[in-house]
Amino acid sequence: MVANAVEVEGLRKAYGPVEAVRGISFEVAEGEVFALLGPNGAGKTTTVEILEGFRHRDGGKVSVLGFDPASGDRRLKVQMGVVLQTTGVDPYLTVAETVDMFRGYYPRPRARDEVIKLVGLEDKSGARVTRLSGGQRRRLDVAIALAGDPQILFLDEPTTGFDPGAKRNAWEVIKGLAGLGKTIFLTSHSMDEVQFLADRVVIIAAGRIVAEGTPESLMGRQQSDTLIRFRLPDSAGALPEALRGAARLDGGSVEIETKDPTRALFELTSWAVQKNVSLDGLQVTRPSLEDVYLEITRKAEAVGTPA
Ligand code: ATP
Repeated sequence: MVANAVEVEGLRKAYGPVEAVRGISFEVAEGEVFALLGPNGAGKTTTVEILEGFRHRDGGKVSVLGFDPASGDRRLKVQMGVVLQTTGVDPYLTVAETVDMFRGYYPRPRARDEVIKLVGLEDKSGARVTRLSGGQRRRLDVAIALAGDPQILFLDEPTTGFDPGAKRNAWEVIKGLAGLGKTIFLTSHSMDEVQFLADRVVIIAAGRIVAEGTPESLMGRQQSDTLIRFRLPDSAGALPEALRGAARLDGGSVEIETKDPTRALFELTSWAVQKNVSLDGLQVTRPSLEDVYLEITRKAEAVGTPA
């Protein structure tokens, strides 16, 4: 049986009258890439900072690598890597000096050059922090979190502001860390990032869990329709009877939403071939994790309770 790196049961936290976290329970298995998602103000940072030991909870049980983070136990701190949205570092130190400084805080640090290589900053090892681009600074933040060779890594929106190439690289770094058996606890507003990286997802809204599962199971659960899109020349005439009800026409563009894409495509393409009509730009798309996420959180907001 796989042990749990994180166990949360009935967690609660209020700030005065604001109930930020209202009794949530979840687990994160060792070696898993786990993503905590939710709209602004849902309670993600509150939850993560309780797990990191930076905030106190009002109620519930929390265990990280078998320790209660509220105890401030150093045996937990040395096994935990944290990438905050901004990390304060001395801008006049070099990348290598910065990594070395943070390595000095841990009993069994990872080798400096290995840390720098893991985040792909080999070329910048001797560069001062002031000379790094925004994306390179963010990679240095990850390097700092890796300096102590942690068992669990908390990544708070790790690729905000990255260009698409840097984002891909960061994802590969995170996949690589998961490959080393590290547990990764991710928060992100980027659903393509979550779809690429996460083994499992919990979605919270207004302090409550509204959905959880693998990205695939969440996408399956919504039973959303497949979308067929194409352009139709004026000369094509009316669509086949069976598709007319489901089709939306906008100028020459047509969209068909269907729960039975095999049959709809058969009807469409056999009609087109028979009539010698070209279906330009034909596309068949499934809803993305982002579509599903928006549907789940909108529903939760509308009723104020779990979807
Ligand atoms: P975001 O995606 O915007 O970072 P979040 O999901 O991380 O949001 P939290 O920062 O945990 O949300 O905030 C949850 C709720 O608690 C919000 O209503 C917020 O205003 C409130 N809150 C958070 N921190 C404090 C604080 N220190 N004092 C008072 N209220 C707070």
